[in-house]
Amino acid sequence: MNIHAIREQFPILHQEVNGHPLVYLDSAASSQKPRSVIDAVKRYYELDHANVHRGVHTLGSRATDAYEGAREKVAKFLNAFTPEEIVFTRGTTTALNLVASSYARSVCGEGDEIVISKMEHHANLIPWQQVAKATGATLKFFPMGEDGRITVEDAERTITSNTKVVSITHVSNVLGVVNPVKEIAAIAHRNGAVMVVDGAQSVPHMRVDVQDIDADFYTFSGHKMCGPTGIGALYGKKSLLNGMEPIEFGGEMIDFVDLHDATWKEAPYRFEGGTPMIAGAVGLGAAVDFLQDIGMDNIDRHVKQLSAYAYDKLSVLEGLRIYGPGRDRAGLITFNLEDVHPHDVATVLDSKGIAIRAGHHCCQPLMRLLNVSATARASFYIYNTEDEIDLLADALLQTKEFFGHAIG
Ligand code: PMP
Repeated sequence: MNIHAIREQFPILHQEVNGHPLVYLDSAASSQKPRSVIDAVKRYYELDHANVHRGVHTLGSRATDAYEGAREKVAKFLNAFTPEEIVFTRGTTTALNLVASSYARSVCGEGDEIVISKMEHHANLIPWQQVAKATGATLKFFPMGEDGRITVEDAERTITSNTKVVSITHVSNVLGVVNPVKEIAAIAHRNGAVMVVDGAQSVPHMRVDVQDIDADFYTFSGHKMCGPTGIGALYGKKSLLNGMEPIEFGGEMIDFVDLHDATWKEAPYRFEGGTPMIAGAVGLGAAVDFLQDIGMDNIDRHVKQLSAYAYDKLSVLEGLRIYGPGRDRAGLITFNLEDVHPHDVATVLDSKGIAIRAGHHCCQPLMRLLNVSATARASFYIYNTEDEIDLLADALLQTKEFFGHAIG
């Protein structure tokens, strides 16, 4: 992988922030966009835009082809059985809410269980809390080791024949841990439950094969994988999607309407009421092309190497605590500097042009388990380099000194 050539394709990276070259280490929150994605969206608006699915005119056909072409690309990217298993959504949050509101509310009742983990992003926690409240089902949590790992043995013990839904993140956005979703899916299925996976942090970084995992539902966001904001997808097995009721009603999703009733199209259209995010889907398709040209295995290897390099550099800094597993982790490092609030760390780093995230990362319950109110987080992607991690380590050393503590 030629990182220099890859960086060249990201216009935003070539600027100074606060008098320093930008070092962007916040891709877990949102990645930057390559020229090919920006151009695809621009070209679509300049040449092909019209509404989809109903226009008989040429632009209408071109827009429909572009939109449905993007669905095909996403389906192949995830190895879905057919493009009809891809529902375009606003992102992971909307996709998870769709499964909770449409599928889970109709199958859960008193005595049933929904099993999730304690490391979930609020997007994969609150929808299930709401289902539990509405249906009387119990929300249960996998036990989690000190290093944030969930074992297959613990999953065996937690999932029971009362479990209707298991929903877990593939990669934690705080701990960087990669969960054994394929093994957990097998346990869920043995118990008659469906398996939902939050892929917000996995799809951008690694080869994901929904058929191999045997996920029933798999969700992700385009903006974390070089695509535009406002677009993502829900993968769902066709038989499940077609048995689910829509949660939004209006144009595009209907088959037949009279004054007092209506019927729905087959999936995915029954879940895509109204004019969809056409340009977003086009951009997402271009992002899939971009990532596949580089190769998902290459991306995975590069990001994990950066993460291990950062772990080695940061773990030797006295007074710096890293959360989650050791070197072997996904592309992010969550940490705190002793006696310095993470917001102060992020502010000092920003003054040096280094963008990291500070806060609870939409994981308040996990923060409580870690005994902190907030952490700092540096996250890496295809355009990051070891030099940038050296700059991060130096800046953290200076931050510690700035706040009056010596580092060995
Ligand atoms: N799950 C995880 C693990 C995430 O990291 C995020 C984004 N921070 C989300 C869900 C929500 O994604 P979005 O805001 O794009 O819907």
